[in-house]
Amino acid sequence: MANDCQSRAQGILLGLACGDALGRPVEFQGPDRIERTHGRVTEMLAHGTHGQPAGTITDDTEMALCIARSLAEHGAFEPEDIATRFIDWKRSGPFDIGIMTSSALQRIQNGESWDEAGQREWEASTEGSNAGNGSLMRCAPYAIAYQDEPVELVDISRQSSAITHADPRCQWSCALFNQTLANLLIDVDQPLERVLDDIGSELPDDVRNAVEPVTAARRGEPVDISLENSGYVVTTLQAGLYHGLTAETAEDAIVDAVMMGGDTDTIGAVAGAVAGARFGEGTLPERWLTDIDEIDELRQLAFDLIELRSN
Ligand SMILES: [Mg+2]
Repeated sequence: MANDCQSRAQGILLGLACGDALGRPVEFQGPDRIERTHGRVTEMLAHGTHGQPAGTITDDTEMALCIARSLAEHGAFEPEDIATRFIDWKRSGPFDIGIMTSSALQRIQNGESWDEAGQREWEASTEGSNAGNGSLMRCAPYAIAYQDEPVELVDISRQSSAITHADPRCQWSCALFNQTLANLLIDVDQPLERVLDDIGSELPDDVRNAVEPVTAARRGEPVDISLENSGYVVTTLQAGLYHGLTAETAEDAIVDAVMMGGDTDTIGAVAGAVAGARFGEGTLPERWLTDIDEIDELRQLAFDLIELRSN
């Protein structure tokens, strides 16, 4: 089943990029405005928010690329190297970068260590602006490399989050998300439910409460997933898992996620990674993939990360 695993692993990285690029032009817009202006967003749009060509990825995929490249080159989690790659990317002047990410990286540039900077930045932040989705959006590559090592995957997902996002809700959202992806990769029947069995008791209440409606929806119960998606990690996790795990197709998962409005590129990216793992890369629309410049590298990196696992 190696090819199936490869297709799912590539689906994670390609789905992430598809959701990111599809959501980019409508980021910050409410669902009503998106609907009024575009109808259903099923094509890569040019211009829009950040004024970029169709198929342009944003910080979500760019930071995931930093992590995937580091893992592939070093064959292991090297947090200092990952922090350095984040800083090099920040210095390149990206058109979008999260506030907490930027501030934490600036601390490292000013001489603080990678494992202190995020913690201090978190302590200096107030409730309401201290638990963004900036580490969740980039963490999926670990799920491929550590799919067979659940304890390491939880630990590394949390540490990687803490480089910029040390809030327990951010750390545990990354851990839960990556465990879900890993379960999809190894074809576990109830991927999210299994994670809740394994680490549910360790999750912060806000994280556990946010995923409960997703499991209810998977049991066929009616749920309301319409919270405002402002960039709070818990609502992004909920929306991404909901669409990724309940849609009929990968395309529907990503489009429905983007149509929620708000932080559309990141909700799209999170839903896209889940849907890509669930359905495989071959189910992602070719017309989307051809618009994204980084697809070949993402395909190769997914392959490299699988290889890493078997060594
Ligand atoms: Mg973004």
